[in-house]
Amino acid sequence: MINREDPLIRQLAAAEPVLWRNPNIAPAAQALADVGLSAADVADAAARLQRFAPYIRAVFPATAAADGLIESPLYRTPKLQEALHLKSDLWIKADSELPVSGSIKARGGIYEVLQHAEALALQHGLLREGDNYAKLDSEEARQFFRRYTVAVGSTGNLGLSIGIMAAKLGFQAAVHMSADARQWKKDKLRANGVSVYEYAGDYGEAVAAGRAQAEQDPYAYFVDDENSRHLFLGYAVAGERLKAQCAEQGLRVDAEHPLYVYLPCGVGGGPGGVAFGLKLAFGDAVRCVFAEPVQSPCMLLGVYTGLHDEIAVSDIGLSNRTAADGLAVGRASGFVGRAMQRSIDAFYTVPDAELFRLLRTVRHSEGLQLEPSACAALAGTPYFDDVANATHLAWATGGSMVPDEVFAEYLQEGEAA
Ligand SMILES: *Cc1c(COP(=O)(O)O)cnc(C)c1O
Repeated sequence: MINREDPLIRQLAAAEPVLWRNPNIAPAAQALADVGLSAADVADAAARLQRFAPYIRAVFPATAAADGLIESPLYRTPKLQEALHLKSDLWIKADSELPVSGSIKARGGIYEVLQHAEALALQHGLLREGDNYAKLDSEEARQFFRRYTVAVGSTGNLGLSIGIMAAKLGFQAAVHMSADARQWKKDKLRANGVSVYEYAGDYGEAVAAGRAQAEQDPYAYFVDDENSRHLFLGYAVAGERLKAQCAEQGLRVDAEHPLYVYLPCGVGGGPGGVAFGLKLAFGDAVRCVFAEPVQSPCMLLGVYTGLHDEIAVSDIGLSNRTAADGLAVGRASGFVGRAMQRSIDAFYTVPDAELFRLLRTVRHSEGLQLEPSACAALAGTPYFDDVANATHLAWATGGSMVPDEVFAEYLQEGEAA
């Protein structure tokens, strides 16, 4: 039951920005047991991505500098720190610049397609243990995968990652998109040979339709954004990689120097998986904070009420309308909410106007191109700016592939906001 008199519920229902500090936070040693996945599972995912690296390097030359790993830079951003009047150091993890699809979805989405491709290829003798996976960049391999379909329901970025990766391998790729998906994302997918299906309703409807269609087809594989352990593990690999980047760049993270990581949250797989990887890598020295639009606080609502995926933002009268692509999700992943409910330190909500203001500030201070959803990560920094010796890390989840004319519109919105 929802208690409508509860002050936090009232604020959420009124679409006011809120901060909720999670009283159920537990030490990593205990809380990670809720997940049902282990460090060994994450290491297995990292090893799989390493096996695919020669192939990825061959088909996506933008990954050559990283030897075929799809990874993003970590930036120290002192000018933005100053513009936001923050005392603690501010860093940006620029998933906006991830190769292939320019968003955090290039982690989980691509990983899930690769694990499916590997399983099929091993099962049918196209690959053998110890093979160089660069051999998948061949007509023979593409012919093999052509018999199979990979499908997903998406508001945009997940569709881009899964569609582009699946089509590149040779799969039939089907992306089911909601009404709010941007035209340029549909165009980009079609240009990459992906079939795009459009629905008048929201993300939930696109997912349901895509799932139903895939269930009719024994050769189809449907990526389940709401419950997928594969997606989650693909995201979690980021933990160890960030740890290595922090060491390289002299960013100290330990019990005396906590790292506050702000993660924009939609259905929850991306931020949840990354948070899992971060907790495994840094333990209690990392504090994870989730950011959602004021109209789409599905994870906050699910975890706060304990109802998880049994409650939607429409149940408290919210519209689920936001300019933050990827965050317009009305119902959170039940898997992620239950897995991570003792690992996320706090949750907050942000109005769209603030996202546009931040987008503009980031552009003018550091020259970075972020999309509105990514900017949600920056809105939480003031809440934790008084923590001694802490560092802020905003996980900038997307933006580099936004076309110039669309980005120009975003900047204008920021001017007006
Ligand atoms: C999808 C997405 C998120 C959130 O990821 P979820 O797995 O849906 O929680 C955040 N930012 C951007 C840009 C995204 O595309």
